[in-house]
Amino acid sequence: MKIEKVTLAGSGVLGSQIAFQTAFHGYAVMVYDISDDILEKSKTTFKKLGESYKADLNASQKQIDETIDRLSFSSDLEKAVANVDLVIESVPEDPSIKKEFYKKLAAVAPEKTIFASNSSTMLPSTFAQSTGRPAQFAALHFANEIWKHNTAEIMGHPGTDPDVFDTLVAFAKSIGMVALPLKKEQPGYIVNSLLVPLLSAGLDLLVSGVADVPTIDKTWMVATGAPTGPFAILDVVGITTAYNINKMEAEKTGDSDKQKVVEYLKENFIDKGKLGVATGEGFYTY
Ligand code: NAD
Repeated sequence: MKIEKVTLAGSGVLGSQIAFQTAFHGYAVMVYDISDDILEKSKTTFKKLGESYKADLNASQKQIDETIDRLSFSSDLEKAVANVDLVIESVPEDPSIKKEFYKKLAAVAPEKTIFASNSSTMLPSTFAQSTGRPAQFAALHFANEIWKHNTAEIMGHPGTDPDVFDTLVAFAKSIGMVALPLKKEQPGYIVNSLLVPLLSAGLDLLVSGVADVPTIDKTWMVATGAPTGPFAILDVVGITTAYNINKMEAEKTGDSDKQKVVEYLKENFIDKGKLGVATGEGFYTY
């Protein structure tokens, strides 16, 4: 199986980055979203991404112009997937939106087309039946700021065809990713299975009064050689995401320590608009 033409479904934060990265590496990329207005706005995002590639990767203006030329746009799903080899789905992290999208996609995509989901928290087995082609479906998960944090976790469900899996691994490498194959389904993949407990432990140590932010970060950095500690990472991820994850966990488990973390984040950060790097202040000031 060879991938030549790719469609990115969803032109939001991650979809636009995946589209740009794929086009930067020479593929013809169709960008699909629910309206022409949204697609028009995404063109500004692509211009900004070009500036980031110049600043961070030393890309030339010629490379950026050629990348933009390889992008095309459509809000008509049937046209957007005509004759494509791979559709990468990066629509909102809402199971009903995703299921609905896969049903519509299944009805119009060519038989040969592989589908891949960029979902951060949902397992591919959740959507395998909705795709109408479970053997040609797996997760292909990227990280924010894909051009710098170039991981691609490839995770099948029990019915994924091994050739499809290998094709996705090869595709990920061909667009400059470090391909990270998972042997089975795992909520949070590898990256979040490692990261979420670290960030939670940092918050627990802080809120229970064991140590302050700089001491906890310094401990992690000096002891392991990591360049940043959990609170500097939380500022990059965004404190809203940490708040939402802890809130869900507290509601699910009824754990009173978790509830304290939730209240602490709400009072000191969420209510004050201190949401991390994106707002200029979180645990640190930027
Ligand atoms: P986003 O809200 O920025 O973008 C979603 C896009 O999908 C929007 O442009 C929206 O108009 C479009 N959309 C809505 N309904 C649609 C539909 N029915 N068909 C096609 N497009 C539709 O979201 P995002 O942060 O880019 O996240 C998208 C996916 O990527 C999610 O599954 C998320 O878990 C995953 N992801 C996000 C990050 C991140 O850091 N933001 C990192 C890794 C993976």
